[in-house]
Amino acid sequence: MAEELLQAYYGLPREVRFCKRCVISNQRPSSTVEFKNTTEQNKETIAFDEEGVCAACRYAEIKETGIDWKQREAELHALCNQYRSKAGNYDCIVPGSGGKDSTFTAHVLKNRFGMHPLTVTWAPHIYTDVGWRNFQKWIHAGLDNILFTPNGRVHRLVTRLAFENLLHPFQPFIIGQRNIAPKFSALNGIPLIFYGENQAEYGNNIEENFRPTMAPKFFEADGDYRKVILGGVPGDVLVKDYDVTPNDLQPYLPADRARLREVGTVVHYLGYYLKWDPQECFYYAVEHTGFSTNEERTEGSYSKYSSIDDRIDPLHYYTTFIKFGIGRATYDAAQEIRNRKITRDEGVALVKRYDHEFPHKYHTEILEYLGISDERFWECVNRGRSPHLWKFENGEWKLRRAVWMDQSAKECL
Ligand SMILES: [Zn+2]
Repeated sequence: MAEELLQAYYGLPREVRFCKRCVISNQRPSSTVEFKNTTEQNKETIAFDEEGVCAACRYAEIKETGIDWKQREAELHALCNQYRSKAGNYDCIVPGSGGKDSTFTAHVLKNRFGMHPLTVTWAPHIYTDVGWRNFQKWIHAGLDNILFTPNGRVHRLVTRLAFENLLHPFQPFIIGQRNIAPKFSALNGIPLIFYGENQAEYGNNIEENFRPTMAPKFFEADGDYRKVILGGVPGDVLVKDYDVTPNDLQPYLPADRARLREVGTVVHYLGYYLKWDPQECFYYAVEHTGFSTNEERTEGSYSKYSSIDDRIDPLHYYTTFIKFGIGRATYDAAQEIRNRKITRDEGVALVKRYDHEFPHKYHTEILEYLGISDERFWECVNRGRSPHLWKFENGEWKLRRAVWMDQSAKECL
C-alpha cells in the first residue's frame, strides 16, 4: 500500500518529519486536558516552521537571546513580595516528587526568594528505591511535605483501563499530579502555586511560553464526577460497571472552580522567570539536597537522572514510542541538543541505540500491578501501533521512518 494511504491513528500527521535541529518528529502531541482524554480525540502536535525547525528549538533560541532574564527575575521578586507570608503561614505550594525539577523549584523559592513553600506529592504508582531516597532527601533538605497516595484498588483499576484503552498507563499519575497542588490550594487557602518549567518549552503552542501562568482548563472543573473520563471511561460508567463509587473518584476530580476563585489560586511557572535547564537543575539538586542518580541508565534512554521515581516511567515512554514513534531517548536527546549538551549527530546515534529498548526490569511487577497477562499486554501494545508509523516485516515490527534512517541515508551519499 502506498504510504500516503496508510491510516494515521490519534489524528497524527500522516507524513512523518524530523526537526532539522533536534531529533523530535512532528508526531509529538502537545499537552492535553487529561481528564477529558479519549481514544477518538485528535491530538494537536508540535509545530514545524518553513525551515523544518520545531517550536521547541525555536523557543530554545528565544531563551538564549530574546528574553531579558534579569527583568524576569525582578518580576519573580515582585511576585514573591506580593505573596510572602509575614505570619509564618505557608505562602506557596510546590507540587513534585523530589525529582531534580521540584527539588530545584522548592529549594530556590525557599532559600533565594525567602518563601515558605509547602511541597505536595502525588505518589508514584510504584516507588523505585532511588525515587524514595530522593524524596526523603528533598524533605530533609528543609522542606515540609504532604504525600498523598491514592486508594490502591481504584488507582490500579484506572491505570489498567488507561493502558488497555489509551495505551497510556501514566495518565492517572498525570491527572493526580496536575490536580494535587490546586486542591491543596483550595483546602488550605494558599493561592500561589509554583510549577517548574512550562511544558510548552518542549513543543506546545510556542505562545504559551510567554505567559507566566498555567491555563485553568488543565486543573479546574465543576466537581461533577460524571464529566471526567479516566482511562477512556466516563465517570458515570466507572460507577455503573466497575465497582467504583463517586467517592472513590474524588482524588481524580480537578479542583472546584468556585473555590479556586474564592482563594484566588494562580499557577505560575518558575521557568518563566528563571532560565530553565534540566541538567542545571540536576547539578543544583545534587549540590543542595544530595539528590542522587540511578546506579544504571534508564531503560529506553541513556540518561540516569530524569523521571526515575516510578517503576512505570520506562513503560510510559515505551508507550509513546509505540503510539508516536517517539521514545525516551528522543525526548532526552532533543532537550539536550536544545540546551547544547550534545550535538544533533550524537543525539541521532543515541536515539538509534536506545529509543526502541523494551523496559524489562519491572515488567513482571507491572503486569501484576495492572492485573493482566503478558499476552494481553502485547495485544494492547500492538493494537496501539499506527499503520502510518509501523510495519510488520520478517516476523517483527519496524518503524517506517526514524531520525537515524535519514542519517544513514546521508552517510551513504
Ligand atoms: Zn527541534
